[in-house]
Amino acid sequence: MSADTTLFPMAYFRKQIVPVHEATVSIACQSLQYGLTCFAGIRGYVHEGKYQIFRLKDHFNRLKTGAAIMDMPFSMSWEEFLDITQQLTRANAPQSDFYIRAFQFTENPGLGPSFLNKEFDLAIYMLELRRYYEMSKGLRLMISTWRKFPDYVMPSKAKGGGCYLNSALATTEARKAGYDEALLMDEQGSVVEASVANMFITYRGEVITPELGEPILDGITRRTVIELLEEAGIKMHFGRIDRSMLYSCDELLLTGTAAQVVYAHSVDGRVIGSGDRPGPICQLLRTKYADIVSGIHPKSSEWFVSFGSSSR
Ligand code: PMP
Repeated sequence: MSADTTLFPMAYFRKQIVPVHEATVSIACQSLQYGLTCFAGIRGYVHEGKYQIFRLKDHFNRLKTGAAIMDMPFSMSWEEFLDITQQLTRANAPQSDFYIRAFQFTENPGLGPSFLNKEFDLAIYMLELRRYYEMSKGLRLMISTWRKFPDYVMPSKAKGGGCYLNSALATTEARKAGYDEALLMDEQGSVVEASVANMFITYRGEVITPELGEPILDGITRRTVIELLEEAGIKMHFGRIDRSMLYSCDELLLTGTAAQVVYAHSVDGRVIGSGDRPGPICQLLRTKYADIVSGIHPKSSEWFVSFGSSSR
């Protein structure tokens, strides 16, 4: 159940578009040793011969904000980022859905992790993205014994490379135990998100998602889903979700750039809703997502950066 991915041949590295196998750093660099990176994961679609990148500016802004949270130098402007992303996409010429990984890194070697006195640079590579989760059936989820780190330990609103040790531990535990994916509780025992996705449940006729002040990523798919639910007039609120609510909810959805909207079959072996069939909220959101991608949703033009294969 992991991403079925292949790297595209070209990458942006040290201010140039180069073959991805030439985009390499020293084994001694602090980004590798200590996880001193800040990254973005962005989804692109190929639709009617055009490339469409979803909410690119929101991803750029979250990347820049994430760097600022960590006190990591960040110098690229939105205009440069947009231009480079378009150039790289054209150079790689994807034929179907693709994923853009942009990240800040430092080549600084040596001991003593810190963001001080280091140059950080932005690199981008691309992956083919066929599916992240099996969309046709529900996910078997486990509540991990690893907890989500509170924001006073590590920033939950920045996609800092080192923070993903937490996700890796939880996912590894869940997969070894035979589940598809892990959910994580915060310190108080509220379930806050999955290893790399936000979470929504339907409980007693209302959609509930953890609020932003909890240790969750401010997911761009989460923001999109909230808007789509509001637009459909679905009652929702932000609040705490405990284990009993999860075990007895009608629908449990995970949202993320790679996953988009997926539903849970079960949590810790307790079947959710109809188990192997998507519930009504999942179906509604998937329909709306399809409308966004095909350009018939009113927000399509605002949310997509669209361009052709030629720069002229
Ligand atoms: N939470 C975490 C920890 C994540 O890594 C991700 C993936 N970026 C998400 C939630 C979902 O965020 P988005 O919708 O912006 O991809």
